Amino acid sequence: MRRKIVAGNWKMNKDLKQGLELIDEIVNMNSAEDVLKIIATPFIHISLAADKLKDKTDFAVAAQNCHQSNAGAYTGEVSAEMIRSTGAAYVIIGHSERRSYFNESTSVLTQKVNIALGNDLTPIFCVGESLDDRNSNQHLEVVRQQLKEALYHLSPADFSKLIIAYEPVWAIGTGVTATSHQAQGMHNFIRSEINKKYGKDISENTSILYGGSCNAENARELFSCLDVDGGLVGGASLKAADFVAIANSF
Ligand code: PEP
Repeated sequence: MRRKIVAGNWKMNKDLKQGLELIDEIVNMNSAEDVLKIIATPFIHISLAADKLKDKTDFAVAAQNCHQSNAGAYTGEVSAEMIRSTGAAYVIIGHSERRSYFNESTSVLTQKVNIALGNDLTPIFCVGESLDDRNSNQHLEVVRQQLKEALYHLSPADFSKLIIAYEPVWAIGTGVTATSHQAQGMHNFIRSEINKKYGKDISENTSILYGGSCNAENARELFSCLDVDGGLVGGASLKAADFVAIANSF
């Protein structure tokens, strides 16, 4: 179901004590209850974070990754089933840092989406073009292929469970944000591509988040765009006041 969402991606930040304190701080501030706040912690925090937030209907916990297999001899990895067993309900898949630093290919991402859905985890699936793609006017085609190759094998019922995050790679962690015009243009394009493949009902009901240097100053303008349903936020999610201000920016 399409809804207003702000998801904080902590990446590899905060030790256990700091992370749990940050959650307490966020929860103790006034945030709009009609906005779903998803907190994507490192694996270490997930179980305790999910436990802390289990009675809050406007909060949820996400993992930042999962392995593409159910179980087995994969030293250091964490499965979707394990994540689900903590009470977390979401998982980020296809983040550009995973695609580039960990060489996650489209076929691996497809398996991760399948295994997440099979374990009742909602994927927050990231797409986005590089600066070269945008400068060479390939951005729409790149995002079209990312959607098609990793997701279009899904049944309509499964596709409708996804959250999509548009994260231009050139905006992640750079302090350079897409303009609201650029964000709306791409979000509208993504929605129209989903419409072509899965129809109007599913495309209108898909939540599409913007990510890339989203902060307390620019969130209001970005979230006012017709096809922007919220944000996936990295750096600014590490301070309670900023994260809550972003969640209150609709
Ligand atoms: C991200 O990594 O998903 C992200 C959007 O990071 P930042 O907000 O720091 O650009």
